[in-house]
Amino acid sequence: MERSVILLVTSRSTTEGAGVRLHRVFGFHEVPRFDPFLMLDDFSSPNPADYLAGFPRHPHRGIETVTYVLKGMVEHRDSIGNHGVIGPGDVQWMTAGRGIIHQEMPRHTRDGLAGFQLWVNLPRQSKMIAPRYQDVKAASIPDVAPAMGAAVRVIAGEVAGAKGPVKDIIAAPCFLDVRIEPGAEFVHTLARDHNAFVYVLEGEASVGDTAIRRGQSALLGAGDLVRVKSAAGARLLLVSGKPLNEPVAWRGPMVMNSEEELDAAFDEYEMGTFVKSSWGQEA
Ligand code: FE
Repeated sequence: MERSVILLVTSRSTTEGAGVRLHRVFGFHEVPRFDPFLMLDDFSSPNPADYLAGFPRHPHRGIETVTYVLKGMVEHRDSIGNHGVIGPGDVQWMTAGRGIIHQEMPRHTRDGLAGFQLWVNLPRQSKMIAPRYQDVKAASIPDVAPAMGAAVRVIAGEVAGAKGPVKDIIAAPCFLDVRIEPGAEFVHTLARDHNAFVYVLEGEASVGDTAIRRGQSALLGAGDLVRVKSAAGARLLLVSGKPLNEPVAWRGPMVMNSEEELDAAFDEYEMGTFVKSSWGQEA
């Protein structure tokens, strides 16, 4: 059965971090419709004034964050000793688990900045796992042509026999960057019980009878097959994951199952016992 669009969301302008102007593709208002996905931000801008303030030192618990950069660079540093730069085509898949403190600072480049951050919720049994991350360089991401007029960078999941380098993620996600030539289509099989959405970055696409314009995300209904067409050409993200079906307690950078767990997380952060590390906070 082909999936159809059950919810169309138009991204909204908002301010995050130390004053970064970005577009929230979907977020708090849509929870839990996109379960296990909590939020998608598009921080693309040609104007450094929109992004240079960045996201200085802040904690996360109970989630994973996926940062995908298309243009420009984001420098990161965290409490488990990682430090590096996410550049064009690179992905950082970070599992905050029981706690990480990091900063994410876009650099000034001539090209401006283009990219996204997706928040993936963790199930109760995994919210307090050890933090880790998968740093994926552009060159290790397969770029395949599954059909005439369709090209796909496979970040997670599998297309035309090519497997994405991001592995062992609880939500068993598929994360695809799809380009469709005018008049072409991309057809992909997804796990029947997974939630899936399409976010159009460029051009315009359609699923079933529903047009999805640039800056819009479309949540897909039940089914095992998704068929995305584009009359004029499009670039889009196709993302799916296994829903958690658990209560969501969300306050800023922490996402747990209950208010009590959130209180504990913020208390620990204030007391300096949130993480044990040489950077960020001492135990
Ligand atoms: Fe963060």
